[in-house]
Amino acid sequence: MTDIVVLGSTNMDLVTYVAKAPQRGETVMGREFRTVPGGKGANQAIAAARAGGNVSMIGAVGNDAFGTRLRSTLEHSGVDTDDLRTVEGPSGTAHIVVDDEGGNAIVVIPGANGTLDHLSPGDEGVIAAADTLLLQLEIPVAAVLAGAQAAHRHDVRTILTPSPAQPLPDELFAAVDLLVPNEHEATTLTGRTDPREAAVGLLDLVPAVVVTLGAAGSLYVSRDTDPLTVPAPKVTAVDSTGAGDTFVGALAVALGEGRPMPEALAWAAEAAALSVTREGATVSMPYRPEIEERHA
Ligand code: ADP
Repeated sequence: MTDIVVLGSTNMDLVTYVAKAPQRGETVMGREFRTVPGGKGANQAIAAARAGGNVSMIGAVGNDAFGTRLRSTLEHSGVDTDDLRTVEGPSGTAHIVVDDEGGNAIVVIPGANGTLDHLSPGDEGVIAAADTLLLQLEIPVAAVLAGAQAAHRHDVRTILTPSPAQPLPDELFAAVDLLVPNEHEATTLTGRTDPREAAVGLLDLVPAVVVTLGAAGSLYVSRDTDPLTVPAPKVTAVDSTGAGDTFVGALAVALGEGRPMPEALAWAAEAAALSVTREGATVSMPYRPEIEERHA
């Protein structure tokens, strides 16, 4: 089994469903409220564990009820939480209002994730023992940088999802092996709207890039191979939340197993396609046998 460490966020998503979102000063009655475990770090960890990886998560939850639930959700999916800290104060939360037209407005409060501004003693050893480190940008960049540099020192493959999109220091890119932005993030990082141009532009910063293109699949470019476009399987999309995280988690597993990049991308696309056919971010993530069945 491939060993994957995720250094990243855990959030409780507090989702309110309402016909029309309230304007400032207005009070409206909503229809439904759900609490859904999430955060890009936790999502990628769960996706990778279900895809068959041996996954551990470095992160932080608060000493509140959300923290307890976030930890147990990860454990239920088979993620090792020995390095998931419980810190004083609230867990990270995302306050999401979804209206009847499917539009949403989101406020993220980092909570415990905001305390992750450095690596703790022992984290470097955990990273060094892995095949792959998965990073995203929902924790302070200082910790993302420290994690990437630790992985780089120990020849551990580093995959960064640059979300939420933001300017990043060159030294972070220097420690990343594979960057996986979606179209919007690729444009934000490069100022280029054409995904292929953006991807090629990013090769100045990192050796390889996968731009995910939603239903159009993904585009892979690297410094030493020809560009490759991988189509997404045609499915009836129900909810694409978490598709990108499912894709990255599965890709990490496939690469860790030594599958060549074109096959790994196709395998990840099957996993992500399965996730969009079902509601929810983490609950929709497929388990390995389902991915294998579709990939056969
Ligand atoms: P994100 O969720 O980060 O915005 P994308 O929307 O690009 O990322 O989706 C990530 C991957 O999920 C895509 O590369 C594709 O493989 C898969 N995917 C997303 N939407 C669909 C869809 N409608 N049909 C099939 N696959 C999809």
